[in-house]
Amino acid sequence: MDKAQDRFEIVIAGGGSAGWMAAAALAQAAPRNTAITLVESEAIGIVGVGEATIPAIKIFNRILGISEADFLRETKGSFKLGIEFQNWLREDHGYFHQFGSFGRDFDTIPLHQYWLKLRHEGDETPIQDYSMAWALAKRNRFAPPVSDPRMVQSTHDYAYHFDAVLYGQFLRRYAEARGVTRVEGRIADVRRNGEDGDIAGLTLDDGRTVDGDFFIDCTGFRGVLIEDGLKTGYHDWRQWLPCDRAIAAPCAHGGDFTPYTRSTARAAGWQWRIPLQHRIGNGYVHCSEYISEDEATQTLLANLDGEAQADPRVLRFVTGRRKQFWTRNCVAIGLAAGFMEPLESTSIHLIQTGIMRLIALFPDREGNDLARQEYNRLTEAEYEHIRDFLVLHYRQTERSDPLWAYTRSMEIPETLQYRLDHYTSHGRLVAFGHDLFPNASWLAVMAGQGLEAEACDPIVERRDTPFRERLAGLKKVTHEAAERAPDHRTALDQIMGRTSAA
Ligand SMILES: Cc1cc2nc3c(=O)[nH]c(=O)nc-3n(C[C@H](O)[C@H](O)[C@H](O)COP(=O)(O)OP(=O)(O)OC[C@H]3O[C@@H](n4cnc5c(N)ncnc54)[C@H](O)[C@@H]3O)c2cc1C
Repeated sequence: MDKAQDRFEIVIAGGGSAGWMAAAALAQAAPRNTAITLVESEAIGIVGVGEATIPAIKIFNRILGISEADFLRETKGSFKLGIEFQNWLREDHGYFHQFGSFGRDFDTIPLHQYWLKLRHEGDETPIQDYSMAWALAKRNRFAPPVSDPRMVQSTHDYAYHFDAVLYGQFLRRYAEARGVTRVEGRIADVRRNGEDGDIAGLTLDDGRTVDGDFFIDCTGFRGVLIEDGLKTGYHDWRQWLPCDRAIAAPCAHGGDFTPYTRSTARAAGWQWRIPLQHRIGNGYVHCSEYISEDEATQTLLANLDGEAQADPRVLRFVTGRRKQFWTRNCVAIGLAAGFMEPLESTSIHLIQTGIMRLIALFPDREGNDLARQEYNRLTEAEYEHIRDFLVLHYRQTERSDPLWAYTRSMEIPETLQYRLDHYTSHGRLVAFGHDLFPNASWLAVMAGQGLEAEACDPIVERRDTPFRERLAGLKKVTHEAAERAPDHRTALDQIMGRTSAA
């Protein structure tokens, strides 16, 4: 076989976060004979509003060899210890979804079962009071976790807020330096192979062609390859997650520089607040059936920390996913694969896991049936897990505005009902395999949204663990440790400065 024949040509269509994350990771991890070309159109542009992430993003950067200090500097990033949910259960009520656990189990029974027992005895301490992440967050402080598992400072985790446009530019430089070829142009046609229906190549609107062996569709909501070209079909999930619009507008700093995202429920949806170094990202995710774009824009602008720094942008979406993520010789990653509102900051994570899964099931010229099947099976499970987690926030509420009246009474997926039944009967948290959100996340949101367990696990009664002392001790050391941590801005400056000095 000659050298040219041996080359495996991957074409990435689209240069938003998905396209450049895929290009960077493949440039680093794909077999040596792989040639990578990325086609994007500056005239079309990118969504560019993904600003909050979950902790696994650290792994992605580590695989690419990007240091935390460089990443934070380049993307004007900040730290995120979790999400504060305001008014989701009812007005003037708040709770925190932390990254990390609630202390560490001190018995064979999960710690939260003892918290439930205290609760049934009348103790109203919220579960978040046992979280290191919340102890730091509520003081606007930050310190990375330590590795010694005996320390309470090892029980939290963190992610980042960052400017997605800057991240894309950073990854573009990274990928181009490692051999990725960028082609500027608008894809006008997806040419298919007569024999097997695979994609043979892309034709640009000026007549140039980009051919390849395997294609990654990162063209955003439209899905130029997966949908326009291959007609894959879409599962629409709006019956569970009816929001279909967002108005986004960055603003100047005004309030606290919080090491967490804030999500505030409003009459027809919810508003995000994401603090970066240079500005705050804001947006009102809403359902167009219950509010006009004008009214949603006014609501957003009336609730900013500082002066708006750009005109509000409208983003329209249909929640759901492609029927097949990988079909024929094309895999869709990013918004081309599907979309769920950014309530738990999962889109960039789905890009990351899509890329990692593709690397683990790396395609060949042919014989990809099993890899395709496995890719679709795992990705489907991941999407459904996240969907259920998001639906939980809407379903479990006392709010009565029309949107919330609908979501309170809607039928929910059986998989979610199963989890709720386990929690309400005996406070049990069930997991389905490799769930993205661990039990501690489910507990935070279930308890935060006011779901009550009728009883705790009966085994609790049979134990003579001194749980009162243990829980009181945990609360005390957690709060003492948080008091010793630096404030968010200082921690950020220290971490960014440390490596540059080195
Ligand atoms: C309101 C909102 C808020 C969000 N917030 C978050 C968040 O906080 N956290 C998070 O993780 N995610 C968030 N996301 C999701 C996040 O923005 C996306 O996952 C991320 O930006 C990836 O987008 P993408 O690269 O798939 O698509 P896009 O950014 O749309 O990029 C598509 C690319 O394809 C190219 N393209 C399209 N058509 C053609 C064509 N015909 N020819 C050539 N090129 C073409 C475009 O030029 C562009 O380069 C949010 C999304 C929305 C809508």
